[in-house]
Amino acid sequence: MAATTVYKEPAPRVDAENPLESMMSRFNVATEILGLDDETYDVLKAPDKQVIVHIPVTMDNGKVRVFEGYRVVHNTILGPSKGGIRYDKNVHLDEVKALAAWMTWKCAVVDLPYGGAKGGIICDPTTMSAGEIERLTRGYTMAMKDVFGPDRDIPAPDMGTGPREMAWLMDEFSKTVGATSPAVVTGKPLVMGGSLGRTEATGRGVMVSALAAMKKLGMDPMQASAAVQGFGNVGSWAAKLLSEQGVKIKCISDVSGAYWNENGINIDEAVAYKNVHKGRLDGFTGATLMDDADDLLTADVDVLVPAAVEDVITEHNAHNIKAKLIVEGANGPTSASADPIINEKGIMVVPDILANSGGVTVSYFEWVQNRQGFKWTEEMVTERADRIMNDAFEKVYATSQKYNIPMRIAAYVVAIDKVAQTYKFRGGF
Ligand code: GLU
Repeated sequence: MAATTVYKEPAPRVDAENPLESMMSRFNVATEILGLDDETYDVLKAPDKQVIVHIPVTMDNGKVRVFEGYRVVHNTILGPSKGGIRYDKNVHLDEVKALAAWMTWKCAVVDLPYGGAKGGIICDPTTMSAGEIERLTRGYTMAMKDVFGPDRDIPAPDMGTGPREMAWLMDEFSKTVGATSPAVVTGKPLVMGGSLGRTEATGRGVMVSALAAMKKLGMDPMQASAAVQGFGNVGSWAAKLLSEQGVKIKCISDVSGAYWNENGINIDEAVAYKNVHKGRLDGFTGATLMDDADDLLTADVDVLVPAAVEDVITEHNAHNIKAKLIVEGANGPTSASADPIINEKGIMVVPDILANSGGVTVSYFEWVQNRQGFKWTEEMVTERADRIMNDAFEKVYATSQKYNIPMRIAAYVVAIDKVAQTYKFRGGF
């Protein structure tokens, strides 16, 4: 048999800020505003459970590689934990812990009966075959069979995963329990219990919350311009749906660079281009490639939508942001060190746990449909999701007015207050 080696991809991004510290510093500010008692603070500051697994996978060359994977369940007081699984070479346990906590706050902000969790595997799916990814996904599911469950912990896609991986996960889990179990995972393909509207749900929520914020700022979408960082599921849908509302998307980007068009980029063309070029924008001619992709963040636009990775807006570039509104499609794109600068500049931020919660909201609808055994129409999905997003936006906005605090901290206040109140009622420790 071939030798087994522990497979480790290169170390996390150089110079990366720590998302866990960013999450905790906002959490600390919000708990102080709420006057949260020490006991509940102690319960919420650390995750309920962290599982680390090593998954042996036979690669196509016949050699076995061992991958490290995580599932962090942050909290389950509101219901079974919910959150995606990330396949990326930079996955790090601290990152997964932050993302799991954000899922708790996100589900609480939009009032879903879920706790928060997140999973990740250190791997580079762009260099792996479909067969290798399938074996990895099945191995991970097997290793987590006692963690996952429709009433325990319900995974979903995140960076590097999509309906294909969710289908394998559902199949493998179903085998272990001996019955088809669609509600164990969301973001599945439509034919096997996925929900209409799930694919575009996160981007749609970004658009809906951006429009709500623009209204408060007196900004006319037909006169506004935007830059969208990231052209994966979230960024491309956010860009498309914002452009349908009349917003001129002057700048988009992906790993190949940032692209600028003063007259607005035709997003349908960019999506069509990406779809036939291995998911990348290299060589896209509907806009000009910028010299430095980071210039997207400080571009002269009204709305900035970071929809890629964590910690891209930092104390180093926040001073130069020209946008009046930031709508966070990604989880944790702004490090805590940038918050005071952004607030000082008077920029409104629709924070990640509010702006990108459309995804988990429609995941919830998918889970409900699976349990009902009844498929909703697309109108039912979008109408209900839009209402939830708008209600959550108004609640967070009212909280920010009430305490005179930024929207980000207001979102944490709304979320933590709901979780803390539930602890008061449930008691038990
Ligand atoms: N990964 C997505 C997020 O970060 C979706 C999670 C879910 O649908 O459970 O919100």
